[in-house]
Amino acid sequence: MSEVKVAVLGGSGAGKSALAVRFLTRRFIGEYASSAECIYTKHLCLDGRQIHLEIYDPCSQPQQGKLSLTDELHWADGFIIVYDISDRASFAFAKALLYRIRESHIGVCKKMVESSIFLVGNKQDLCHMREVGWDEGQKLAIDNKCQFCELSAAEHYQEVVAMFTKVLRNITANFKVKEKRRPSGSKSMAKLINNMFGKRRKSV
Ligand code: GDP
Ligand code: MG
Repeated sequence: MSEVKVAVLGGSGAGKSALAVRFLTRRFIGEYASSAECIYTKHLCLDGRQIHLEIYDPCSQPQQGKLSLTDELHWADGFIIVYDISDRASFAFAKALLYRIRESHIGVCKKMVESSIFLVGNKQDLCHMREVGWDEGQKLAIDNKCQFCELSAAEHYQEVVAMFTKVLRNITANFKVKEKRRPSGSKSMAKLINNMFGKRRKSV
C-alpha cells in the first residue's frame, strides 16, 4: 500500500474544492464550504497497486495572501495548482505559487520532482469569458517544467479523473525510483502534520 499526498492549491474561487470533490465523488455540487481546510482520504487501486490517497484542500479565504507554503511543501508528494481561465488574478496567483514551489525545490525540499506538479486551467466551460489564453497556461507550465491541462470541473469528469490519475502515476513512479518513502523520523513528521492539518478530516 502506497501513501500518496496531494495538495490542491490556487486562488480563492479557482475551483480547488470542486476539482477534489469531482474526482472523489464524481459529482459537481456547485457550492463548497470555503471556511475550513480539509484533507480528504480515499483508497484506490492504480495499475494494480493499492493507494491510500490524501488530498489537501485549503481554506479559501486566508490562503490568498499566504505564500510561505512551508507546511504544504513538507507534507505533499505532489501539487495541483489551479487557476480559473476567466480570472486573470487567479492565474497570477497560480504563477506565484508555482515559483514558490520551484524555488523550494532548489532549496531544502529536494523530494519535489518536476513531474509531480500539475498546472490546471479550470472552468473551461466559461471560455466565452476567458481572460487567460490556453497558450499562456501552457507556456507557464513549460517554463516551470510541469504538466498542464485546461478542463472544467463542472463539465469534464473524465478529464478530471485523467488529470488526477497522471498526478498519482507520476508520484508513485517517483516513489519507485527513490525506493525509500518517507524520510526518517516519520513519527515526528506525522505528529507535525496532525498539528497542522488535523483540524478536519473527511473520508469519502
Ligand atoms: P475554491 O475556492 O478554489 O475551492 O473554489 P470552489 O471549488 O469553491 O469553486 C468556486 C466557485 O466556482 C463555485 O461556485 C463553483 O461552483 C464554481 N466552479 C468550480 N469549478 C467550475 C467549473 O469548472 N466551471 C464553472 N462554471 N464553475 C466552476
Ligand atoms: Mg474551496
